[in-house]
Amino acid sequence: MRCSKCGREAVYFARYEGRYYCHRHFNEMVERKVKATIRKYQMIRRGEKIGVAVSGGKDSVVLMHLLAKLRRKFPFELVAITIDEGIRGYRDRSVEIAKRNAELLGIEHHIYSFRDYIGLTLDETVEIMGPREERVGACSYCGVWRRWLLNCAARELGVDKLAVGLNLDDEVQMFLMNLMRGDVARLGRTGPYYEEIHEGLVPRIKPLREVPEKEIVLYAVLNDIEVDLSECPYAVEAFRAEIRDWLNEMEEKHPGTKYQLLRSYDRLFPLIAKTYAREIGLNRCKLCGQPTAGKICKACQFRLQVVERARKKGIAFTLQGEP
Ligand code: SF4
Ligand code: ZN
Repeated sequence: MRCSKCGREAVYFARYEGRYYCHRHFNEMVERKVKATIRKYQMIRRGEKIGVAVSGGKDSVVLMHLLAKLRRKFPFELVAITIDEGIRGYRDRSVEIAKRNAELLGIEHHIYSFRDYIGLTLDETVEIMGPREERVGACSYCGVWRRWLLNCAARELGVDKLAVGLNLDDEVQMFLMNLMRGDVARLGRTGPYYEEIHEGLVPRIKPLREVPEKEIVLYAVLNDIEVDLSECPYAVEAFRAEIRDWLNEMEEKHPGTKYQLLRSYDRLFPLIAKTYAREIGLNRCKLCGQPTAGKICKACQFRLQVVERARKKGIAFTLQGEP
C-alpha cells in the first residue's frame, strides 16, 4: 500500500480515518497530534519547567522523545523523573532503559526510589503484608505511593507541571471503568486539563491522550527508540484487561470508537468537574504535609499499615526516609 500523502510505501493504516502513512508522514501525524493536544489545553507555556515521568515503558519513553523534539522549537525546560518502586527483575531493567534514553537526549534525569522515600520497596511491602486476602492489591500501594513520590519529586525539583505518558487507550479505559463503577466524581478530577487545585499539588499533563497505544508502539519501533515492553509481575488488573479487549473489539468493528468516547468524556468533563468541585477542598497531611482530603494522606496510611503489620509479625526492617 502507498502513503495517502506522498505515495511512498506505507507502514501504517489508520482505520479510523481510512488513511495510509509512510514512515515520515506517520511521524509527522503523531507529532502533530501531540502538539495539538498541548496547544488545545495550553499544557506547556514558554519557559516553564516540565518534569516528565519516565518508567522506561513505551509510553513514557516515547513521550520524553516527543517533548525533547518539541523543545527544540518551543523553549521550555525538561527534566526526567523515574520512580523506582523496587520490583525485582522488572523495574531494575526499565530504570536502566529510562536512564539510557535520558542520556541520549541530554535530559537531566532523577531517580526517586520507594526504598529511600517510603522506607521500603514494593517487593518488601508485599512480603510483609502477606497473602492476597490479607491486603489490598500490590497495584494499590504502588499507585498511591508513586503518585505521592512523583509529586514530592516534582516539588523538590521545582517543576511547574508533570507530564505523564497516558495514551488514548488508557484514557478511554479509565473513562469506562469509572462509569461502570459509578465513580463519576473521579472523572471530574482527572480530565483533559488540570487546573491547579492545591498549591502543594503539581499539575499533571497528558500530552499523549489523543495517540492510540498502537501508534506509540509503532513510533518507538520505527524510530529505533529503546523501550521496555515487559509486563510487571504484579499486573493482574482483570477488569481493565476485559475493558481493553472489549474496546479493541469495538474499535475493530467500528473504527473511531475510541476517539468518539474520548470526545464524549471531554464534553462531559467541564460539567462533571463543576458539579464535584466542592468536594476538592484539600488539607495538608498531618504526617507528610502533602495535600489530602482527610487528615492523613493515603500514602502515609498505607505506610503506617505496613509498619504495624511488620511489628505484629516481628519482621525487622529499617525504615529509611520519612514521607
Ligand atoms: Fe505498580 Fe501495578 Fe503497575 Fe506493577 S502493574 S508497576 S505493581 S501499578
Ligand atoms: Zn502523608
